[in-house]
Order: sequence, then structure tokens, then C-alpha cells
Amino acid sequence: MALKITSECINCDVCEPACPNQAISMGPQYYQIDPARCTECVGHFDEPQCVALCPVDCIPKDDSHPESESELLAKYRRLTAAEG
Ligand code: SF4
Ligand code: SF4
Repeated sequence: MALKITSECINCDVCEPACPNQAISMGPQYYQIDPARCTECVGHFDEPQCVALCPVDCIPKDDSHPESESELLAKYRRLTAAEG
């Protein structure tokens, strides 16, 4: 399941460089996560780096993008293969 950033985001810029999949970018008003690139950090780290770092705890799971652990791993493999 991808994660999402809520409107509680204070645009502190901490999470964006920490994402191993370049899934986080600035949106119209606050940071956003591209669900096609977020693997919950599966394949890279034991825990979501953005959640670990966010000072206001505004990054819940995105229920509109349900994915199993193996689907997340498959996404990680696709993303890393695409990067060559
Ligand atoms: S959980 Fe990991 S991959 Fe997903 S947005 Fe956060 S840092 Fe990026
Ligand atoms: S770490 Fe949290 S508050 Fe900071 S930019 Fe990311 S989502 Fe927003």
C-alpha cells in the first residue's frame, strides 16, 4: 500500500530527499507521494523513511492503493530495473 501525505504537512522538506524511490515531490500546497513509486520503502529499508522522519506524523497509509508485501517488492524491482 502506498502512503500519502495529508494537509497537516508543514512543508519542512525533510522527507523528500530521504525517499529512496523519488516518490515525494512538492504538490500545489504541500508535499505529495506518487503511489506508482512508493513501495513503503520495501526493498530499501525496514521501515518507511518518510514516516520515521516526519515531525508532524502526517503520512498514513493510502487506503485507495492496497498492495501486498509481494506487490510492493515487485514494484521495487520494476523501479530499480528501470533505473538500470
Ligand atoms: S514510504 Fe518510502 S518509498 Fe514511500 S514515500 Fe515514504 S520514503 Fe518514499
Ligand atoms: S516530513 Fe512530513 S511535514 Fe515534512 S514535508 Fe514531509 S510530509 Fe510534510
